[in-house]
Amino acid sequence: MTTTETKPNLIDLDLADCEALVAELGFKTFHGRNLFKWMHKHGVVDFDAMTDVPKTLRAALRERTQIRLPRIIQDHPSADGTTKWVMELDDGQRIETVYIPEGKRSTICVSSQVGCALNCAFCATAQQGFNRNLSVAEIIGQVWHAARQLDVPPTNVVMMGMGEPLANFDAVVKAMDIMQDDLAYMLAKHRVTLSTSGIVPNIYRLREVSDVSLAVSLHAPNDALRDTLVPINLKYPLAELMPACKAYVANDKRRKVTWEYIMLDGVNDSLMHAKQLIRLLEGVPSKVNLIPFNPFTGSDFGTSPADRIETFRQRLVRSGIFAMTRKTRGDEISAACGQLVGRVEDRTRRLGRILVEHGRMVAP
Ligand code: SAH
Repeated sequence: MTTTETKPNLIDLDLADCEALVAELGFKTFHGRNLFKWMHKHGVVDFDAMTDVPKTLRAALRERTQIRLPRIIQDHPSADGTTKWVMELDDGQRIETVYIPEGKRSTICVSSQVGCALNCAFCATAQQGFNRNLSVAEIIGQVWHAARQLDVPPTNVVMMGMGEPLANFDAVVKAMDIMQDDLAYMLAKHRVTLSTSGIVPNIYRLREVSDVSLAVSLHAPNDALRDTLVPINLKYPLAELMPACKAYVANDKRRKVTWEYIMLDGVNDSLMHAKQLIRLLEGVPSKVNLIPFNPFTGSDFGTSPADRIETFRQRLVRSGIFAMTRKTRGDEISAACGQLVGRVEDRTRRLGRILVEHGRMVAP
């Protein structure tokens, strides 16, 4: 008999996989469509409730497969409406997912890895270290739970939770495909955003297989400073990052790259930095999201004062760049940008640190 561990998890499958699976079991492919729709559109994970799936197929599925999702073990609501869910995975590690309502819009911030290996100087997730990539089921499972928890389905998903999504390329792309599927979560491509610290080769790969919106964690307008804040810059400096991002939006005149720029007091927030940023973004269709730094225990950075952030923003706007300041949401429950920690059994951080200290960065 197959054990629970080795049975394939149906939540890992996209629509084409579901169709292929039922065909393999000797049934018509449209039953695969129904199976997929039951799981994602209706949130049904009990085979017996899938009433239009033939009983014999249900029995075969029960015998050979399983339906497994992460479990919500904590629910932290915040006064501003933001909710953070802590989800436990089969190996006992924990990830965090954030729900951010804003008028008619509601955004789910989804994690892609258990921890993160990239060691950005200002990020709490980095301090947890890194354990492993999430599976497709663990990624789309976060959206599955969000859709069940809410009265109205989420309108937007951002891959901005724990982890570097482009370091878990295949699973993230497949999960984003499921988010966009009409039989699942029906999100339009411009309502799914992937944020990356800048894994350049995978920005080019993403362009081949997906057309989600791209956000890039820039945080500094020159290599010397970016090397210290976002160490992956040692491997993929700005001269490589900028053309990759430009290429990503080149096919569609309406598209822009969203640049995330954290405002760190006295570090990257002067008018000189604003001018360098303007020069750097020349010729790239851009919008800039200024993110006031969210403090966490053990961090040495401070948040830029509000008036300095506004001066910086105005300088960008005057040069024709669309720039806004991201509203801080969920900070009282440690759910704001860069505050997600989960529970991570660190495997690699010390190694990553040593290599960064020697001026090199290993690929994640
Ligand atoms: N690893 C991906 C996805 C994370 S997105 C990436 O780097 O893009 C989360 C965003 O919040 C990133 O832009 C990240 O740099 C930023 N961030 C990290 N720590 C932060 C903090 N303490 N305060 C504000 N923003 C932070």
